[in-house]
Amino acid sequence: MNPIVKKLIGWYEQEKRDLPWRRTSDPYKIWVSEVILQQTRVSQGINYFYNFLEAFPDVEALAQAEETDVLKVWQGLGYYSRARNMHRAAKTIVENFGGKFPSDYKNILALKGIGEYTAGAIVSFSFGMPHAAVDGNVKRVLSRLFAIHDQIDTSIGDKKLKNIAQELIPGENPGTFNQALIEFGAVWCIPKNPKCETCPLQQHCLAFANNSVDQLPAKKPKKKPRDRFLNYLVIQNKDHRHFYLRKRSDNADIWKNLYDFPLIESERPLSPEELINTREWRKLIGENYRSLNRKSDKKKHQLSHQTLHTYFWEVNIDNLLEPDFSVNGIIKDEKRNVHQYPFPRLIDAFLQENFAEYEKKNE
Ligand code: SF4
Repeated sequence: MNPIVKKLIGWYEQEKRDLPWRRTSDPYKIWVSEVILQQTRVSQGINYFYNFLEAFPDVEALAQAEETDVLKVWQGLGYYSRARNMHRAAKTIVENFGGKFPSDYKNILALKGIGEYTAGAIVSFSFGMPHAAVDGNVKRVLSRLFAIHDQIDTSIGDKKLKNIAQELIPGENPGTFNQALIEFGAVWCIPKNPKCETCPLQQHCLAFANNSVDQLPAKKPKKKPRDRFLNYLVIQNKDHRHFYLRKRSDNADIWKNLYDFPLIESERPLSPEELINTREWRKLIGENYRSLNRKSDKKKHQLSHQTLHTYFWEVNIDNLLEPDFSVNGIIKDEKRNVHQYPFPRLIDAFLQENFAEYEKKNE
């Protein structure tokens, strides 16, 4: 056995964290855990893993669920396309494979939202097949061990590292090797201050030998995130019993099919006068309002490529003069029902902060 592989597996047997998805070989559970962990820290992911499996214990249950319910369980995790794709993939598994998770790499890779990493993880962890599973952690470890200076987020760098991983993978217990490599990157060969001095792979590590650990992995320079200004209208009619919500469309650029408040997007922060002069305001509210107040200071919300500067405006309207919101896809529901909707995190945070106050107005 390659000495790197042997030492890595020895390290893993000693140091691995006891995580719930490591106690199973059920491909459904492994899939759920891998999708959750794609953009989420383990400490945050554990609760979501349990909650998701409680709500949807198997592929059939997930396939039969309403998308809104899947998004609700996912609420707060971000990157909601992960949940929508899982839902679609579950339907495919039921339709094409009778609800039994496929065991073939190609069939798994063809499922919606499953890339090479996740397919490799599922077939190696669940079915003991020798397919590499190369995530960001693995790329970091391999780029350092083999002193690969190609940028890891380019096709050349990506291919080189995947080839190395595939060459290293042993025929026996490939899943354990993949887990070991992923874990080593997650807890030992970490981005800043990796534990080189006591590293079990130190004598094999080319980056350590030529003093280039800090320069690896090489990545493309990051683009500056785009600034967006979101003005949310928290519309209240006289009886204070309702919220007006909007389901984001299937074509929305972010948060597809989640719910938020009616929204006016602008190029920069707006004054109240500027807000009521926007085309969207005239279309949505027009003259049918009694007052407009800024409900919160600016809230900043960071997405991977966008910085959202968010403002919540309270718009008070008269019941009698209520505009026809339905033409703009806006729904009205009682405040007590609002918790059943899936919201992006920033809307959920606003509601949590302000819900009690809005409830009180209703008394
Ligand atoms: Fe990573 Fe340092 Fe070990 Fe090399 S010596 S594998 S850089 S922890």
